[in-house]
Amino acid sequence: MGIGIEDETSKLTRGLLRTAWALIDSSGWNGIKTRLQGADVKVAGIRSDACRPLNARAIARALGAWYARARRDLPWRRSRDPYRVWVSEIMLQQTQVERVKDFYQRFLGLFPTVESLAAADEHDVLRAWEGLGYYRRARQMHAAAKVLATEHGGTFPRTVAALRGLPGIGRYTAGAIASIAMDLPEPIVEANSRRVLARLAGYAKRLDRPGGDEPIWKIAHSLVPQRDAGRFNQALMDLGAMVCTPDRPLCTACPLARMCDANNSGRVSRIPMKSVRRATKQLREAAIVVRRGARVLVQKREEGEWWAGLWDFPRVQAAARKLHQAIGESKTLQPLACTQPKALGTFTHTVTHHRITLAVVACTAARMGKLSQNLAWIAVDKLGELAMTSPGRRIAKMIGQPSVR
Ligand code: SF4
Repeated sequence: MGIGIEDETSKLTRGLLRTAWALIDSSGWNGIKTRLQGADVKVAGIRSDACRPLNARAIARALGAWYARARRDLPWRRSRDPYRVWVSEIMLQQTQVERVKDFYQRFLGLFPTVESLAAADEHDVLRAWEGLGYYRRARQMHAAAKVLATEHGGTFPRTVAALRGLPGIGRYTAGAIASIAMDLPEPIVEANSRRVLARLAGYAKRLDRPGGDEPIWKIAHSLVPQRDAGRFNQALMDLGAMVCTPDRPLCTACPLARMCDANNSGRVSRIPMKSVRRATKQLREAAIVVRRGARVLVQKREEGEWWAGLWDFPRVQAAARKLHQAIGESKTLQPLACTQPKALGTFTHTVTHHRITLAVVACTAARMGKLSQNLAWIAVDKLGELAMTSPGRRIAKMIGQPSVR
């Protein structure tokens, strides 16, 4: 009797599914359509002229075989500890793999567990991050470690939604931790996998607009396997990094070449559509090294500024010819009555889309003045202990800071 009911239910379900597919197809929009036999996948919510159906099973098989022989040996792949996966994924955002390798080992040496990171002073976390840039990542990681230590007993929650509730953990990082460390069938989309998926599906529309990645997430969802999702995701990233590169991808050596719409339709160089680059803004600033005996004045960057939480030398915005006036008018420097300004050199550095020409000027404080809380006098030979901005560190070396690492 029970079997009869299941059979009837199955028939009814299959009938409903067929009707639903017919309606979806006739409306000109694709729905997620995984066939009862086979695994051809169409992607939900994308117009049929924008994206080709993909065979998820064939892609997973070909990609898995390629990954087994070609995968990159990376330090963070030797462990599936969610903490280590998390640290590596945060570091890899906006930083090259080769650069991350050293930082990753050193950071884990200093903060081997969630608890040790949570208990650390923010200054020490920023000092360990110095040189990686995008310091907000480190501050948010520190904040998330505190939440994990106090509210989750030092462990990671096991759903993408809960992971995304932690500071600094977005859709990509949550998917990476869930799939790589916990083997949950969650997709990821980052620069490399985004390019591979767009090309595979022949998705040629703009990605660099609000919500522009959404179709790629849908493609990723439709392809991620129920088992070994972490391995699949890492394989996609490796393929994007090593074979399906932005310029001149190696399609003849690609395990997915036969299944790739961009390759089959001769549109590889047009997919994904190139982003419109933001124009670089040119700025001129001066960093002032105020001396008082063997000590110099440093300023902690405040919330909302570039490099918040790090130390730098006070700056004024001015072209060289207006420097004296700018130093005299600076609220920070005025109480110190700086004298004898002397040029130490000039260099350029880049922050987001700003290119800053920075003149470095030394002067002597004629009086101590009253300092605001974010200013401090520090001996030159102690500068190495401060977490500094990268231009600040460069200036510290110019004025004789001993080398620290
Ligand atoms: S065939 Fe070429 S474009 Fe397509 S996924 Fe492979 S490398 Fe990328």
